[in-house]
Amino acid sequence: MLRKLALTVEPVDRETLPSLFSRMAILNGTDAANFALDLGTTFRRILEQDEEAVAIFAERAGLSATQLAEMLSWTGERIGDVRMRFRQEVFVSRALRNPIIRGCPLCMREHAADQPHPLRHIALRGDWLCRGVDICHQHHHPLVPLWSSSRPIERDDIGARLAEILPDLRAGSFDRMCFDPTDYDLWLDKRLSQGIAADKTWLASQPVFPTITLCEFIGAALLRTQG
Ligand SMILES: [Zn+2]
Repeated sequence: MLRKLALTVEPVDRETLPSLFSRMAILNGTDAANFALDLGTTFRRILEQDEEAVAIFAERAGLSATQLAEMLSWTGERIGDVRMRFRQEVFVSRALRNPIIRGCPLCMREHAADQPHPLRHIALRGDWLCRGVDICHQHHHPLVPLWSSSRPIERDDIGARLAEILPDLRAGSFDRMCFDPTDYDLWLDKRLSQGIAADKTWLASQPVFPTITLCEFIGAALLRTQG
């Protein structure tokens, strides 16, 4: 049994593994790569969700089994070459792993507000990873591209990337016009957060990822008709 580190942070709602790992690294005065080495593993093994590496991190971070399972469910877990499990449903990997990382600048600025060490507090949420999720339901702000990299080891080094964009984030450069969520946005958020049992629409009979794809086709067709 490994000891919990003296300095730990609680995961925020829907936080992903790379996000919490980064915040823990920064809190402990280092970066993601060196924090992983300090734990006796590598950052790459953490990102690949190597079972042993994730277990070491969870113990050192003081995560309960429930917290760990919740975090991995919002991060997406590989189940084969091209598929992932995300919120108890099966997705194609490319619907969850994109070179472009998106987020809500208002959420992130709230995390950072008045904090002497903002990077310890800014968290990325798992629903922001999911193709089809286009809005923050707290602020009604569209998810915007924050940074882009085809290399996961760079893309998911959240603290390093956040440090680069923090001045622009604070200056409001990522802010866009807010808009009301559509019925589809509300449905998808409820389905992802509360699961299929809470889905009272006819879509409960369908797996979520094909439904997202179908809605995109229907939406595009409607726009063409109206245009
Ligand atoms: Zn937000």
